[in-house]
Amino acid sequence: MSQMPVITAKKLNHTFGKGTLRKPVLSDIDLEIYPGEIVILTGPSGSGKTTLLSLMGGLRSVQEGSLKVLDQELCEASKKQLVQVRSRIGYIFQAHNLLECLTAQQNVGMSLRLHKDLSLVERINRSVAILHAVGLGHRINYYPDDLSGGQKQRVAIARALVSQPKMVLADEPTAALDSKSGRDVVEIMQQLAKEQGCTILLVTHDNRILDVADRIIHMEDGRLATNAA
Ligand code: ADP
Ligand code: MG
Repeated sequence: MSQMPVITAKKLNHTFGKGTLRKPVLSDIDLEIYPGEIVILTGPSGSGKTTLLSLMGGLRSVQEGSLKVLDQELCEASKKQLVQVRSRIGYIFQAHNLLECLTAQQNVGMSLRLHKDLSLVERINRSVAILHAVGLGHRINYYPDDLSGGQKQRVAIARALVSQPKMVLADEPTAALDSKSGRDVVEIMQQLAKEQGCTILLVTHDNRILDVADRIIHMEDGRLATNAA
């Protein structure tokens, strides 16, 4: 591809623990992900998928090797540089992590607070618009307690995408959902990402959603094996 990758990992290694407890978790990860790609990362539990995602998201420090995300080298990056990279990434986790005391609209609006150029009214308008886009126009002022699992996860998607991030990292976002809701949630992510030209890296065990990927990569024991999608 002619475009520059949004993620480039070179000989990325990661270990947990010290001394006799030292345990290699990622070994020699080489990977490039390009703008607008939807990449699915699969692999058995404990193979290192979440660790890799948390490194890419600037949520954990890089120990060894090179990891470039959105033009920023994360190995030995400063706190400020990490914060800046994080602000350009949307995160979706297995648990929706919504704040129970805030409505759907307020939960989504929260992630726009970092964007100082937007007024309160603009933040509200944008959150309402994206809640409509994920099919929750009729649930804008509902609290998480009054939403189904699938609806909560759609609020989490709206929250991740409302600031139009360059990249979305999603860690088993459908794990807690029935197959129909899981499928809906992934298709919404796919559609919004295409509209916004956003790159998605999605960890999943869910075989029913593999077809949304442009490319599938497989992880085993901290190593990547790639096969063409
Ligand atoms: P996956 O997401 O593929 O299930 P993880 O990246 O969560 O895998 O974990 C990979 C390995 O690293 C597992 O053996 C896990 O027990 C270990 N691990 C994960 N996080 C930590 C941590 N904070 N401290 C020590 N070991 C960890
Ligand atoms: Mg995991």
